[in-house]
Amino acid sequence: MKTLKIKAAVFLVVAVSTFILTQGFYRKNIGMLHDSLNMSLGIVEEMHVAESFHSSMHSMVIYASAYLSSHDDEYKKEYEKKLQEGEKAVAKLVGLRFSKEYNEHLAHTGLAVGDEIATNLGAYFLELKNTLAPIMSGDDENGKASLAKANKIFDEVFHRYYVKIHTSHYSSLEDLQNEAHRIFETSNYIYISQLVLAVSAGIFLILFADRVFLKIYKLTEQHSLTDSLTAVHNRRYLDTVVAGEISNLNGSPCSVVILDIDDFKKYNDSYGHVAGDKLLKELAGVLRKVLRETDRLIRYGGEEFLVVLPGTAKAQAIVVAEKLCHAVREEAFSLPDGEPARPVTASLGVATMPEDGKEFAAALKAADSLLYRAKRKGKNRVAAFEEDERKQG
Ligand code: GH3
Ligand code: MG
Ligand code: MG
Repeated sequence: MKTLKIKAAVFLVVAVSTFILTQGFYRKNIGMLHDSLNMSLGIVEEMHVAESFHSSMHSMVIYASAYLSSHDDEYKKEYEKKLQEGEKAVAKLVGLRFSKEYNEHLAHTGLAVGDEIATNLGAYFLELKNTLAPIMSGDDENGKASLAKANKIFDEVFHRYYVKIHTSHYSSLEDLQNEAHRIFETSNYIYISQLVLAVSAGIFLILFADRVFLKIYKLTEQHSLTDSLTAVHNRRYLDTVVAGEISNLNGSPCSVVILDIDDFKKYNDSYGHVAGDKLLKELAGVLRKVLRETDRLIRYGGEEFLVVLPGTAKAQAIVVAEKLCHAVREEAFSLPDGEPARPVTASLGVATMPEDGKEFAAALKAADSLLYRAKRKGKNRVAAFEEDERKQG
């Protein structure tokens, strides 16, 4: 049982720590995935705004060029629309605040962080707008030169920022994808370790649980068959276990001895019930010392004990009863305060199956009546039927 307990404890510790560890890993991975997802959303948002900003600038140059050559108001309207779109995109880019992790990503790819890029783009956009403004207000004098300058601004934005931002964002997304893959792989290992744990738990249950349950059952059964005060067997034990043993004797004799403490009431009255209980406990120990392993000692009633001696003939049973009577008489019992108690004696009745009763119940009845004969004769003695008064059945 001890080794089983140790095995169960070791298994429990391993199971609980693996569970805590794996849950910790899961939590960490979910946290990392959450951060990665937030970062990806930030990157996608910036890419989207940067795209809108870039295309607005491009369209503004194209509509300004068309307006310069045709003075068609439709182009002017389209130009205004794109100007507004571009201004909105700039405001958004300036306003975008990215997480610490996102900025770390950008720094990692060797580019300036989001705010710096966005501020510079704002300056470029303003310059483009100011360059194209004379064309859009009908001043054609330096139109071609303005268009050339605007194209140059657009090219610079395209090469120095837009391409860079795209490259950086793609590489960031690639990093995040790799990280997500790594998290997925770690989760797989955790899943496998949990699977191994579950399988070993199953094996453990199959191998050991039946033994544990059996042990628990036996302990409970033992408990239900034991007298709580004296720790000897109780009446239930007599009715179940001993009754079964007797029915399997196959004709060999079985003796029964009933022992009753003499004047126990007086003992209780003199010393109190606590002292009486102590005596009962000590008496059980005294009786047990006299008996063999195969003899059954049972607390039959309040201060009555029963000894069942399977396979023991009457003559031998009388010897045992005399030994018990002697042992009680000679024992120096003590009171709860350690003081010596008055001498204690007991009376005993002995009967044997089948000569004093064919059935065990009849032999028990005979032993009981013999106990009262011992009491009547002056107590502190053993009584058994003589040869000529042998009872049958
Ligand atoms: P006798 O010699 O005729 O057997 O006299 P007795 O006083 O022993 O017999 P009686 O049956 O009159 O009294 C038995 C007493 O045992 C009565 C009861 O208070 C006491 N007794 C029964 N069970 C317990 C117990 O568990 N603890 C204690 N302290 N006393 C008990
Ligand atoms: Mg009694
Ligand atoms: Mg008594």
